[in-house]
Amino acid sequence: MQLQGKVALVTGASRGIGRAVAVQLARDGARVYCTSTRPGGCADTLAAVAALPAGCGRAEALVADVTEPAAAEALAVAVLDRAGRLDLLVNNAGITRDSLFLRMTPEDFDVVVGTNLRGAFLVCKAFARSMARARGGRIVNIGSVVGLTGNAGQANYAASKAGLIGLSKSLAQELAGRGITVNVVAPGFIATDMTAVLAPEVKQAMLAQIPLQRFGEPEDVARVVSFLCSDAAAYVTGQTLVVDGGMTM
Ligand code: NDP
Repeated sequence: MQLQGKVALVTGASRGIGRAVAVQLARDGARVYCTSTRPGGCADTLAAVAALPAGCGRAEALVADVTEPAAAEALAVAVLDRAGRLDLLVNNAGITRDSLFLRMTPEDFDVVVGTNLRGAFLVCKAFARSMARARGGRIVNIGSVVGLTGNAGQANYAASKAGLIGLSKSLAQELAGRGITVNVVAPGFIATDMTAVLAPEVKQAMLAQIPLQRFGEPEDVARVVSFLCSDAAAYVTGQTLVVDGGMTM
């Protein structure tokens, strides 16, 4: 119960890593606001949180498209109205639109950067003032190992995730004096809807590069996010923590 009494927001919590993070934070005691772009999108997440033992945190769903500045602002109003403050912000919402660079359109670039990087910027901006006033809080941005290494077929996605590291380090410097830490968790290959679409031979080739010899589970990422949100990580800021089974070491 390392997060007992904390108020958390997880964007893109309808499935995959976001859902696992929301459930983990609630398991560790936090009251969690979960977002999806669709009304009812977080139903399974809410059910998973409701099934946790008594004493765990509870969850509530909110609808928000993080690419919309007004939606990010409305999210902050909704959370601050309901809970009075936000302690833990996890920017997890993300998409891919893969293609080789020569075929990648400006629209493919804009929509991925607009969601993964600008979306995180907008949500951080919506909450930063109230977190600064409270003189404390944790921001965890979900990056990717490809933000560190690059990846053929993912110029847009890798750029968005590399940008997220620069954004996070800059925010970490600006907000440290207010007691707010900002870190990135960079997963490798995690079994979710996002990776389910990859061809079997691509998955096999990736598996061969993972020293721990398995794909990551969303819960592998969620436990690390919870650690960064906890008092145990009070002196950790501006860092990128890789969770990839050793794939990129
Ligand atoms: P999924 O595709 O399973 O889930 C994506 C989530 O993002 C959904 O909840 C979706 O909500 C939400 N989302 C998408 N677009 C928007 C938007 N415009 N506004 C708000 N929410 C949105 O992805 P994963 O769980 O696999 O990935 C989660 C994060 O982890 C992403 O940032 C991804 O880049 C990162 N990551 C994933 C890896 C992997 O191997 N799976 C590896 C490295 C990083 P909705 O219900 O509206 O569809």
